[in-house]
Amino acid sequence: MKALVKSRACPGIWLEDVPEPQPGINDVLIKVRRTAICGTDLHIYNWDAWAQKTIPVPMVVGHEFVGEIVEVGSNVNDFRPGQIVSGEGHVVCGRCRNCMAGRRHLCSQTSGIGVDRPGAFAEYLALPMSNVWEHRPGIDLDVAALFDPFGNAVHTALQYDLLGEDVLITGAGPIGAMAAAVCRHAGARHVVITDVIDSRLERAAQLGATRTVNVSRETLAEVQAELGMEEGFDIGLEMSGNPQAFNDMLANLCHGGKVAILGIPSENTAIDWNRVIFNMLTLKGIYGREMYETWYKMSVMIESGLDISPVITHRLPFTEFQHGFDVMRSGEASKVVLNWD
Ligand code: NAD
Ligand code: ZN
Repeated sequence: MKALVKSRACPGIWLEDVPEPQPGINDVLIKVRRTAICGTDLHIYNWDAWAQKTIPVPMVVGHEFVGEIVEVGSNVNDFRPGQIVSGEGHVVCGRCRNCMAGRRHLCSQTSGIGVDRPGAFAEYLALPMSNVWEHRPGIDLDVAALFDPFGNAVHTALQYDLLGEDVLITGAGPIGAMAAAVCRHAGARHVVITDVIDSRLERAAQLGATRTVNVSRETLAEVQAELGMEEGFDIGLEMSGNPQAFNDMLANLCHGGKVAILGIPSENTAIDWNRVIFNMLTLKGIYGREMYETWYKMSVMIESGLDISPVITHRLPFTEFQHGFDVMRSGEASKVVLNWD
């Protein structure tokens, strides 16, 4: 079958012929129909320090996908050929304390598809049945391909009660923009989002942000005054990985403000701990999504009218993957969906 492979220890990803995966007795075999490119795939493409220490080569990459089940292993009773599914990309151990307690997203022994086990940028993917999520009938396939990053947005946004709250999102990448949509859907009042790129802010506004802020031109203090906010934001969602953005956020929260941190900083970030203590802030780190409460929330929010499709800027056949990676690397694209039909 055709697959996008990290086959050499240098920058690039290559379209190659590899053997079709053989599903085990607990696996389903999925014919991949759409995939989306993630920031993680760019790290692997660029072969940066993280990728060099994490990715064994050769490796079929990719973890954002939707496809159709074509075969199930002999132990699999709950799935059947023809179902449209995505999958949780974190494969957990099932035996640690957290897994045994049903807190699978907290497993310390995860492996990742397209990272340290074969990925989804391929015509076929074999996945343990415990990682399969069936979509509701009629789901748009391009949207279904985004459930992995959409899940990051939902899991982060829903850490705290949003109804009536004023939310600050730092970073209007695809995940920040989708989080803005979720916050509005969940009943927040002001959803203010920051970035340094105007096109990203415009897209976030399309998805539901009520006020966009280009922090290279405006300060959050000015925006708070304009909105008549006296005590600061109630909730912060850090989705930029930028240390300056994180510090700006902490400076603009109310006393008792709550922060969920998804963005991954590339360096150690210094923050003002006195601010955390005397303003009585709550900081919570977020990784991945909840299995499978986040997936349930995603499916029902889409069913009840949440539209995240404006985050898709490019739709390409998989053979044009190089163009997809190029527009992602240039910062021009938000989500790029590759079609494998
Ligand atoms: P992205 O890189 O596309 O978006 C980040 C955005 O932050 C960009 O639009 C960038 O212009 C903006 N930015 C840069 N400096 C800024 C500043 N000073 N103020 C405000 N915005 C600024 O990334 P994404 O795919 O949307 O993901 C968001 C973040 O979440 C990234 O850091 C990513 O690595 C991280 N992530 C974490 C997990 C997890 O499980 N914890 C999963 C996926 C992604
Ligand atoms: Zn575990």
